[in-house]
Amino acid sequence: MRSWPRPEIPLLPGKGQIPAIHDSALGEKVASAQPDATTATIYVCGITPYDAAHMGHAATYLAFDLLIRAWIDAGRQVTYAQCVTDVDDPLLERAEQTGQDWRELAEEQTEVFRREMASLHLVPPDHYVAVADIAEQIAQAGLVLQESGWAYPVPVDDAGPDLYADLSADQLFGQVAHLDAKTMDELFAERGGDPDRVGKRHRLDPLLWRARRPGEPWWDSPLGQGRPGWHIECSVIAASRLGVPFDIQGGGKDLFFPHHEMSISHLRGLTGVASPVGAHVHTGVIGLDGTKMSKSLGNLVLVSDLVAAGSPPAAIRLALISQHYRLDRDWTDTLLAEATQRLAAWSEGLAAASDEGVDVGEGDPQAVATLERMRTALADDLDSPAAIAAVDEYVASGPPTPGGVALVRGAIGGLLGVELG
Ligand code: ZN
Repeated sequence: MRSWPRPEIPLLPGKGQIPAIHDSALGEKVASAQPDATTATIYVCGITPYDAAHMGHAATYLAFDLLIRAWIDAGRQVTYAQCVTDVDDPLLERAEQTGQDWRELAEEQTEVFRREMASLHLVPPDHYVAVADIAEQIAQAGLVLQESGWAYPVPVDDAGPDLYADLSADQLFGQVAHLDAKTMDELFAERGGDPDRVGKRHRLDPLLWRARRPGEPWWDSPLGQGRPGWHIECSVIAASRLGVPFDIQGGGKDLFFPHHEMSISHLRGLTGVASPVGAHVHTGVIGLDGTKMSKSLGNLVLVSDLVAAGSPPAAIRLALISQHYRLDRDWTDTLLAEATQRLAAWSEGLAAASDEGVDVGEGDPQAVATLERMRTALADDLDSPAAIAAVDEYVASGPPTPGGVALVRGAIGGLLGVELG
């Protein structure tokens, strides 16, 4: 489906490094891309479009945007895939409550999301895939799993059957989250799973295909009429758009179990590749005044609301990347005020001269050093606070040269995605 417009990314002199990134499955930093490949590949789980995106979503996509920009700076081609989970219980329930057609609701909210991502200058995915558009392809994958003994039917009264993954077929299951059985069981129940479904072989076995039920959307498929389960959608999109292995599986840290554990398991079943993902990367949770920001708590701060209230998107972006992506952190008015102030200081400090016709970096070793510090910081698990500190110091160090201004402005725009006024 349609993505959003690509922001302009200034090219910088020299070459950045391929970042090392914290792999949450291994608990250590690894190279974020293969050393000898020309293309780096990334899959980031997308939104369920039934409500506007909040700061937690924005922070997650921004973290991966920093990685993509660092890859581009290191000379890599990038292939980026993201899903839109437009067939999902919360969305269908919302549509039912409001009497709106679920497709309309999904398209309306996806459009809000596109506008927010564009306003924050995020590099758009090359493959932006709605689950509703690939339901039959997902069923086909379910059939492959069933034929190879990785899935089994569970009968449904007056319909069906449903199809469930048989996790006992996967000897490597559990290696993403490394959780004990009790924790897995609890999280599975909390996060969309159905441990008590009668007829399953194991409480954790996840749904792959849900047979048609009255009043629910359905598609014709090789598994009969029905709709896709959750985790398999990401497996199918990643395998078909990126191929395996791909470099980065990304998402908020509440997705590491069951979602990423399950979708990687399905990928192993579909492809026979033991390690279909280079690194699992998870972002911290954004809270508001010490409480997790979530739809159910009704304490969402929305990008669209802040922009409507007059906050420059560049300040929102700068605020969100002024703390490390893996930290659980709070969104506060102070954070935004500080970023707005910093943005003004940078714009003022780096507006001294026109950069027309100036060779970037020329005659300003300090600007060159600033670019290198930013690159080094971002190469170390996307340390955006350190990259921002490097710019702060350059700006504070006195009147810059025209060449220095051009270079540092380029670095701010290219690496941090922040456009100065
Ligand atoms: Zn996903």
